[in-house]
Amino acid sequence: MFEGLSERLSGILNTLTRRGALTEDDVNAALREVRRALLEADVALEVVRSFTDKVRARAVGAEVVKSVTPGQMVVKIVHDELVAMLGADADPISLQAAAPVPILMVGLQGSGKTTTTGKIARRLKERGDRRVLMASLDTRRPAAMEQLAVLGRQVGVDTLPIVAGQNAVQIARRALEAGRLGGYDVVMLDTAGRVTLDEGLMAEVAEVKAATNPHEVLLVADALTGQDAVNTARAFDARVGVTGIVLTRMDGDARGGAALSMRAVTGKPIKLVGTGEKIDALEEFHPGRVANRILGMGDIVSLVERAAETIDAEKAQRIADKMRKGKFDLEDLRDQLGQMEKIGGIGGVLGMMPGIANMKKQIAGANLDDKVIKRQIAIINSMTAQERRNPDLLKNSRKKRIAAGSGTKPEEINKLLKMHRQMADVMKMMGQNKRGGLAGALGN
Ligand code: GDP
Ligand code: MG
Repeated sequence: MFEGLSERLSGILNTLTRRGALTEDDVNAALREVRRALLEADVALEVVRSFTDKVRARAVGAEVVKSVTPGQMVVKIVHDELVAMLGADADPISLQAAAPVPILMVGLQGSGKTTTTGKIARRLKERGDRRVLMASLDTRRPAAMEQLAVLGRQVGVDTLPIVAGQNAVQIARRALEAGRLGGYDVVMLDTAGRVTLDEGLMAEVAEVKAATNPHEVLLVADALTGQDAVNTARAFDARVGVTGIVLTRMDGDARGGAALSMRAVTGKPIKLVGTGEKIDALEEFHPGRVANRILGMGDIVSLVERAAETIDAEKAQRIADKMRKGKFDLEDLRDQLGQMEKIGGIGGVLGMMPGIANMKKQIAGANLDDKVIKRQIAIINSMTAQERRNPDLLKNSRKKRIAAGSGTKPEEINKLLKMHRQMADVMKMMGQNKRGGLAGALGN
């Protein structure tokens, strides 16, 4: 499956590299293959559609990084958008509520609810030092209650004593009561599932939820269910309301499309991932890894990342060389400002330079936030090329013209010129000091 995909992709991706912006044709050609990759990864059709629309809007007009093909550039944008959509950061289970904190586990039968209940309980106990009580609400299958009890003994977590003849809501109430009386931090409620979605299942889960007011409702879903994951997630979220998703069987050959589908449809975070039958096979969700799995183009993504880094490093080196020779002109300053804008202002840049960090305050115009940087770039853009290369030309009449052209005041231009002189001086000094200092700091 993977080979077939990359073979097809090589058609569009091995075309010549080209500078400039991505055209609509570039994007559409690459997105055709991306769409296929998403479908092969079992992303639901409706999600594929809305996702590719979103990427198209972002990608057309985007700059192609040097030494990368337009197709590769689109893949990188798709990857970044996938990561953003999957949720940029791990979102842990929340226990910010009065103890005992109820956690309700829901999902279809066989999705891994009972196993995951044990895995989470173990994790809370071992990593968070929490006292956990587990209760099985599965009244239909006596073996299910015993399964949880066995798991509990295995990991050293208490389970609610089994009492015959109670329904799910009664057991849930009893569990919370036992949790209170026993001084537990967390009560985990493992519900019964059905093989398919049905009203009986939903009604029971909704009733348990109403009776226990759980702090987290975790939908446990099998990563291998692919397209069905959307219906499952939508139904549980609409009827019961979920706070997060646990994706199981990510140890198998699931490509992870279910993760994207469920996230897109419910907007709820994927909190944990099951990676095996063993009790410790539970991991944090890593959007980057899952994005690679869904797209199956990790090589291209890292290639584009490396290319982008090389360019930044080349640019920085060029500027560093010029500075050392005392040839740091306003064009270089503009380049530098552009890079600063990217990495969080002059504070960020200076903070990274050994020896300069302390001089920050001495450099004119100390409050260099993003807005100031944009105005400074605008000022430099309003100059002629000749003026940029030779700032000494900038007498009052020229300054007035530039101020008018950039919508700024002559004082701001003076400030910029002062900053430029100071930076050039400091950098020249440092460059002569030792090569490692500034050049190193600028990414060489
Ligand atoms: P439930 O019906 O939702 O409670 O599902 P169970 O917890 O009983 O799990 C059903 C089967 O899936 C069991 O054989 C588990 O060992 C297995 N299982 C659960 N989670 C995972 C997982 O992340 N990976 C693998 N490979 N198997 C799992
Ligand atoms: Mg079960």
